[in-house]
Amino acid sequence: MELPTIIQDVVEHLSRLPGVGGKTAQRYALAMAKWHHEDVTSLGRAIGQITELRKCIKCGMFSDDDLCHICDSTRAGSSVLCVVENISDCIAIEKSGTFRGLYYILGGVLNPLMGIGPDELGLDRLIRRIKEEEIGEVILAINPSVEGDATCSYINQIMPEDSSAQRIGFGIPMGGSLEYLDAMTISKALENKKKM
Ligand SMILES: [Zn+2]
Repeated sequence: MELPTIIQDVVEHLSRLPGVGGKTAQRYALAMAKWHHEDVTSLGRAIGQITELRKCIKCGMFSDDDLCHICDSTRAGSSVLCVVENISDCIAIEKSGTFRGLYYILGGVLNPLMGIGPDELGLDRLIRRIKEEEIGEVILAINPSVEGDATCSYINQIMPEDSSAQRIGFGIPMGGSLEYLDAMTISKALENKKKM
C-alpha cells in the first residue's frame, strides 16, 4: 500500500536517525499525523533550532553561551582534562558522575584516508589549552579502534613536557564506544587508566 507523499517524506527523514529503521519511522510519522496542529509545529520549531546550536569555545560541548556549564563552573580550575571523541562520550561520562575535571571534545579521531588530520581535530588548540590552563593530567577517553589508538599515541607524542597523558582502561572490545557503556563500567574504566 502506497502511503501519502507527506507521510513518506517524514518517514524518509526520520529513518536517517540512528536506531530508527523504516518501520519505526513510519510508526512515528503515523502517530504524529494524529497530533494537534500546534504540537506538530512546535516539534518542527524545536528541531529547526538545532541549526542555531552553539558550541563551547573551550571544550566543544553544545552550549547556550560561549562557555558550557562545565567550563563556566567551579570545575574550571581543575588540572585534569579528559579528551573524548564525541559529545555523546562526554555526556556518557558526565552521566556516570565519576569525573569532576574538564573536557576536550575532538569531534572524531585521526583518519588520514578520510582526510582527518591533527588540524581537523584541533590538536594545536588542545595543546595550547593544556599549557595555558596548566593541565597536569590528561585522560584520553578515546574509544578503542585502530584510529583511536593512533590518535592517543599522537597526542601523547605532542604533550607538553610537564603534563602526562593516561589512557582509560577498557572492558570493551575494539570498535566499542563509551556511549553505550553503563555508569559502573565507565567509572571502572576511568579508575583503571594507564600511563601512555
Ligand atoms: Zn566547555
